[in-house]
Amino acid sequence: MFLRTLREDPADADVDSAKLLQRAGYIRKAAPGIWTWLPLGLRVLNKIEAIVREEIDGIGAQEVHFPALLPREPYEATHRWEEYGDNIFRLKDRHEADYLLAPTHEEMFTLLVKDMYSSYKDLPVTLYQIQTKYRDEFRPRAGLIRGREFIMKDAYSFTIDEEGMRKAYYDERGAYERIFRRLDLRYVPVFAMSGPMGGSASEEFLAPMPIGEDTFALAPSGKAWNVEALTTPEVPAVDCSATPAMASHETPDSKTIEALVTTANKLYPREDGREWTAADTLKTVAVTLLHAEDEDHDEPWREVVAVALPGDRQVDMKRLEAQFAPAEIEESTEEDLKAHPEMVAGYMGPMVFGKQGEAAGVKEPVRFFIDAHVAEGSEWIIGGDKAGEHRFHAVYGRDFVADGTVEAVEVRHGDMSPDGSGPLSFERGVEIGQVFQLGLKYSKALDLKVLDQNGKTVPVWMGCYGIGVSRVLACIAETHHDDKGLAWPAVIAPAQVHVMATGKDEAAFEAAEKLVGELEARGVEVIYDDRKKVSPGVKFKDAELIGVPLIAVAGRDTVNNGTIEVRDRDGGNSVAVPVAEAAQVIADRL
Ligand code: ATP
Ligand code: MG
Repeated sequence: MFLRTLREDPADADVDSAKLLQRAGYIRKAAPGIWTWLPLGLRVLNKIEAIVREEIDGIGAQEVHFPALLPREPYEATHRWEEYGDNIFRLKDRHEADYLLAPTHEEMFTLLVKDMYSSYKDLPVTLYQIQTKYRDEFRPRAGLIRGREFIMKDAYSFTIDEEGMRKAYYDERGAYERIFRRLDLRYVPVFAMSGPMGGSASEEFLAPMPIGEDTFALAPSGKAWNVEALTTPEVPAVDCSATPAMASHETPDSKTIEALVTTANKLYPREDGREWTAADTLKTVAVTLLHAEDEDHDEPWREVVAVALPGDRQVDMKRLEAQFAPAEIEESTEEDLKAHPEMVAGYMGPMVFGKQGEAAGVKEPVRFFIDAHVAEGSEWIIGGDKAGEHRFHAVYGRDFVADGTVEAVEVRHGDMSPDGSGPLSFERGVEIGQVFQLGLKYSKALDLKVLDQNGKTVPVWMGCYGIGVSRVLACIAETHHDDKGLAWPAVIAPAQVHVMATGKDEAAFEAAEKLVGELEARGVEVIYDDRKKVSPGVKFKDAELIGVPLIAVAGRDTVNNGTIEVRDRDGGNSVAVPVAEAAQVIADRL
């Protein structure tokens, strides 16, 4: 066996799976985020791939295999040549033609089906591959979890209508659940925004673990959401019949929420005895939307908008941006604000925006959006639109309205879940797979059309479905180990039994060898440690590090009592079995 285990953790390994997979001789680093598969690692990888294949074949998908090295043009047509930014490896051939190392293959699958199929009679079809992908990740980390070269199963469904797309999506989703269950990998399907992929519905499968980079929100109902996909259920309206009329007050030096709260408590204490808090104030911020060119604009253009949120919360730019997609957003620059003298830094409030702005005679007032946590009828301290001034008792719905409700704030523990089932809690996880309903995005961009039942040319509905096969391997290692080493589920362990002969007595080695033969005859995969002059302690350490589920030891007891010790990787369930019965006992235990 080509193997060298390491006693020490590699210096730059940042998570347990990366440490153990290297120490136990499964993988070796070639460059940052680029890994060599050693015999043990390759065995596990092949077994995971086999399970993925079985389940994906099982839903009627057919395997193909694309090159990783691809021409620029198809990615140009879908704008992903640019959209991927620095994340793709681009290169030129000797004739100066542009190529890329594919980060994912939507374009190629779409073009393949376009090349070969032309009628609704050809559909539905789902194709997939298990193939190497390349992404020039900004920060490769966590060993195989975020690599720059990695293995992905990517599948693509092609159907004549939306209903067909949904069926293909749920078939694939079902296969994912079976795959992860067979791999003994805990997973949570999380509702996701589909991001730059485009399209509509999407779920990410996250494997919960503390080293995960993705945070997801979990409802008491068991449903889970990506933070960006969280929506706030409508908050019930508040009765404002007793709220005093809105009134302007001087609030010198109160540009920040903190300063404003201090000023309000000092100069305008509440009558009910409680103090003003940040939650009583409405914070209004200016953000700039970056729009692409459209009918009215020959060039990309900037639009300043105002967004209001409860003063005790922070803006979440990513969630907010999702509300304005496909526009991107950024904080408004000084340059942006020069065109809007009504926006007074530190004292901005809703009375000069949107409908209020019109009523106040502001020329072309900016659009005004309000965070979904603000209830109709609720009372706020708002900016007075003049330095050193705020308005008190401003009621949303009575004194001001918004052009739209948005998700603007960082969600927090205890916020109501989108399905109303109770407060949200947050966990971290690693994305192991994702399923997308792509809709018509790629078929339209690449002109994949077929004739429908009525002889009409229609675009094809697509879905795409990825599993990070090499990442899954690392996630299993990350969740199946102890401080001694790896502890693989039997279905993907590099072997099921780790047999070792210890001591100097030939009889122990003969018994072990015989056992190996009997196990192999039964179809059991065995790692056999027949090293001479290596101490039993070292052999045990290696066996525990490598992490095969059963360990069988032929040693002194074999010579003295004719028994072989059979035990679990974790040391439990140790039994002494007569040599002649050992193979059967092990086979039964497996
Ligand atoms: P992430 O958000 O973790 O960067 P992604 O959403 O960009 O992943 P997809 O484009 O959805 O990834 O790719 C499908 C699957 O491929 C992911 O669910 C993940 O399991 C795997 N994957 C993505 N990037 C990597 C990587 N750099 N290394 C290993 N596996 C990856
Ligand atoms: Mg993804």
